[in-house]
Amino acid sequence: MYSDCIFCKIAQGEVSSEIEYEDGEIKAFKDIRPSAPVHILVIPKEHVESIAYLQENHSDMIAKLIYRAKQIAAEKGLKGYKLVFNVGREGGQVIDHLHLHLLGGWGREDNPDEYRV
Ligand code: AMP
Ligand code: ZN
Repeated sequence: MYSDCIFCKIAQGEVSSEIEYEDGEIKAFKDIRPSAPVHILVIPKEHVESIAYLQENHSDMIAKLIYRAKQIAAEKGLKGYKLVFNVGREGGQVIDHLHLHLLGGWGREDNPDEYRV
């Protein structure tokens, strides 16, 4: 727990969030400034700064983040979605606590170019 980390505080319930899922290791909550109709962040409760700081023993945690994102997507009936890790400032990361973006809910298949990365 890093006392100046907003996502550590969300993980511990010290800062409120719209929770989508929680267990002992992971929390998922709605992004406060959504970039898609469905925009959920999935975080480990352990403070890891980013993908760039991953250690080999984090592989199980990463797998759980991805598995949880796909479960939430399925529960929400998303037919397609994006899973994004921004890494470092040049990668668009502004919060230095690892988080997986689940983005979806555009509800259309006709023109994927409009929202393809
Ligand atoms: P990133 O640019 O990958 O670091 O993404 C950080 C994300 O966290 C952004 O999409 C923000 O909108 C989101 N965010 C920042 N503060 C909060 C908060 N208190 N609750 C929920 N989402 C947040
Ligand atoms: Zn943190």
